Amino acid sequence: MRQSQALIPTLREAPAEAEAVSHQLLLRGGYIRQLASGVYSYLPLGLKVLQHIERIVREELEAAEAQELLMPALQPAELWQASGRYAVYGPELIRLQDRHDRSFALGPTHEEVITTLIQQEIHSYRQLPLTLYQIQTKFRDERRPRFGLLRGREFVMKDAYSFAATWEEADQAYLEMFAAYERILRRCGLAFRAVQADSGAMGGEGGTHEFMALADIGEDTIAVCTSCDYAANLEKAEARAPVVSVSNEAPLSEPEMLYTPGVRTIAELKTALGVEAQAIFKTLLYIADDQPVAVVVRGDHEVNETKVKSALGAQSLELATPEQAAELGTQLGFAGPVGLEVPILADTAVWEAREGIAGANVPDSHVAHVVPGRDFAAEQVGDFRNVQAGEACPHCEAGQLQLHRGIEVGHVFKLGTKYSEALNARYLDRQGREQPVIMGCYGIGISRLLATITEQYHDEQGIRWPGEIAPFQVHVIPVSVKDGEQLRLARELYAELRSKGFEVLLDDRDERPGVKFKDADLIGSPVRIIVGKAAGEGAVEYSDRRSPGKQLVQAAEATERVMGYYGAN
Ligand code: ATP
Ligand code: MG
Repeated sequence: MRQSQALIPTLREAPAEAEAVSHQLLLRGGYIRQLASGVYSYLPLGLKVLQHIERIVREELEAAEAQELLMPALQPAELWQASGRYAVYGPELIRLQDRHDRSFALGPTHEEVITTLIQQEIHSYRQLPLTLYQIQTKFRDERRPRFGLLRGREFVMKDAYSFAATWEEADQAYLEMFAAYERILRRCGLAFRAVQADSGAMGGEGGTHEFMALADIGEDTIAVCTSCDYAANLEKAEARAPVVSVSNEAPLSEPEMLYTPGVRTIAELKTALGVEAQAIFKTLLYIADDQPVAVVVRGDHEVNETKVKSALGAQSLELATPEQAAELGTQLGFAGPVGLEVPILADTAVWEAREGIAGANVPDSHVAHVVPGRDFAAEQVGDFRNVQAGEACPHCEAGQLQLHRGIEVGHVFKLGTKYSEALNARYLDRQGREQPVIMGCYGIGISRLLATITEQYHDEQGIRWPGEIAPFQVHVIPVSVKDGEQLRLARELYAELRSKGFEVLLDDRDERPGVKFKDADLIGSPVRIIVGKAAGEGAVEYSDRRSPGKQLVQAAEATERVMGYYGAN
């Protein structure tokens, strides 16, 4: 592409609204532009990168014998009603009416559509197993669209679905997708971990893993063992049951009221009473699907809402408001398990404790010497908290858990028969009996990947694309296009490299060198060839990402080096 003809609107400054580095650099490099919150245009450079990612995804999925199809974004509401998700998906589902008042949704995902297709087309075990995928635009009215392409409301996803007759076949499909995802992310150059994840609202039986790219901006936290291969999303990461301290034979004291005016938080309590956070029982009030519930964890621990939700089988979980707390006979900041007429979930670490200090459910008061089991009963005792860095790994003897931030770039999920039962996708087995098809679903955020790669590959000047991803593999820059020798040699190189199959950007603009180099940094091609004063002698300055500095070489040698860099012959 000749840069004089290209739409590459680079920006000197990062727009104020862009918090994430990837968002800033993709705007500054002229890759994307925002149309509305969470809705972006991919400019020519952005689209090229997207297509390069898609090429990798297609190659690796075809290698796993998955077949590509393309389904509509416009989906009849009846399908969503039939699966039961119309009600539970919530405001993230964009709903609309056609001119005949028929209800539709813009697809956030395609389980309903594809299961209906399978229900119509697959009838026998002979047609199974089968894995289908598409690369398509998805719509989700996210509560908080943010960080540019990392969380959009319209975004590009690869979604795949596997259909099997037996559980072994279904597991096999899952393993093949898992392996394909590892190959895809490796080719994208990403540092990532596959982690155990919570099955949440997708429902289904069996396992699920998320593929997390390591990045500080990531909205997820993952726990990784220092010794074994245990890795899990913090939502799911298990805490090892606490070691019960040496038994203390001293008689237990009776509960004692403490006057604690204005002391609401754990930090304030620690100071006011001079105790450690772990001596405190922290009580949080929630409304779970319209029912109140209190969760009690140790003062130094955090409630894990995902674990609470799954213990209750709840769809939604919201912290109680001050008004709701008052209706429940307590007050936020002074809530405690003693005398509270709300079902209590007690974390194991609380239940194993000898005693603790808790809110008294009356303003400005706490209670000391609260003994679990004696002073309050629990509806459930279990693991309701986040693991913490440095805790022992639940799966091996030697390891400790470390916490990292991650961006979820992919997700593999064993769905079981949830959708095939709901949408009646059945086949006849060898014995002629009707059976529900066993499913799996597998997503990769293509546009999220674009931003994620940028998060891992940049410096202060701009993006530093890995080779297979870069919009242009080579950037050829004549320093001055007014110099006939420079322009001629640059054009020759451009034609030569293109004839060898490389994607090349030729900066044939009549701009100052400083402007050209700044733009080249922002665009971020892995190989740069500068054609300057030595053009008369047929020499150019070659540089690439792997070798430091620039080298003055003959033009033919520069072409050789490009081929060497990309492993081409
Ligand atoms: P998240 O927890 O980040 O909201 P999710 O669990 O809702 O993700 P899935 O439904 O599993 O995501 O979607 C599959 C993939 O699509 C995700 O792994 C992610 O890469 C991508 N994705 C999901 N939501 C968005 C979004 N709003 N913008 C861009 N990519 C997204
Ligand atoms: Mg989501």
